Amino acid sequence: MKLVIVTWVFLLVACTQNNSPNEAQVSRESPKIKVTTTVNMVSDLVRQIGAGHVEVVEIMGPGVDPHLYKASANDVIKLQEADAIFYVGLLLEGKMEEVLGKLKGGGKPVYAVTENIDADRLLKPDEFEGHFDPHIWFEVPLWKETIDAVVSSLGKLDPANKVDYEANGKTAKARMDELQQWAEAKVAEVPLQKRILVTSHDAYNYFGRAYGFKVVALQGISTVSEAGLADRTKLVDFIKSQKVKAIFVETTVNPEAIKAIALDAGVTVGGELFSDAMGERGQMEGELDLGTYEGMIRHNISIIVKALR
Ligand SMILES: [Zn+2]
Repeated sequence: MKLVIVTWVFLLVACTQNNSPNEAQVSRESPKIKVTTTVNMVSDLVRQIGAGHVEVVEIMGPGVDPHLYKASANDVIKLQEADAIFYVGLLLEGKMEEVLGKLKGGGKPVYAVTENIDADRLLKPDEFEGHFDPHIWFEVPLWKETIDAVVSSLGKLDPANKVDYEANGKTAKARMDELQQWAEAKVAEVPLQKRILVTSHDAYNYFGRAYGFKVVALQGISTVSEAGLADRTKLVDFIKSQKVKAIFVETTVNPEAIKAIALDAGVTVGGELFSDAMGERGQMEGELDLGTYEGMIRHNISIIVKALR
């Protein structure tokens, strides 16, 4: 018996010794930066720009509402263990502001990808009580402006690979230009007077501005407050008077209210839009990976155009 155990221990040690030099070599060659992100849209950005040099750990998965999300004890560990943290900012992650602020105050590199965007380009709707509307990813040229912040932050963290981050940033910008061209051509299939987007919460003001849609939402900018009965009646009347063909539910908001309104107004639910989270990575819809920013935008616009044209 003793002999067997000794043999096993010997084998185990031999195997470990065999593996360890390779592993050490690999980690010496490419010590990846550990980045913790809040929402999917930021993860996608950091993955594209940090490709090959960055390991992304995400706090909020698909279908999670960032307005309501509070960091768990496990999330706090993910944040503390990160070499850097990236988030959207503009109060999107409203209930995580405090913990992010504390980490930043303690010297952790914490970056809001929106921090360098010119305030003149941001919307400040009345409902958000003096704050900016954070849903900028739905205006592709505006989201493109977050690329430079990520490129420069990663370059500061890891100067050895700065050139790669800059090159990846350029590629990401070119892809967004292409996406914007596609989006403009696609929405042109819907006549201007039919471009009315009715959804659960006000995530699409930038989308409306960029692609010529009038946007009407049941709830305000954040999902923190719920719509009352008066809001529902008003929305039903609006849908009827404007002869809107279809309205939309969102992946991060309970669909029941919108379904009830569609029934009352006698219109169809045009489909499920991504609002504050993307799909699962590798979740394919035809050629689209719904777990990517590009997949999210193409999915939303295709659904809206199909239902309203
Ligand atoms: Zn939102």
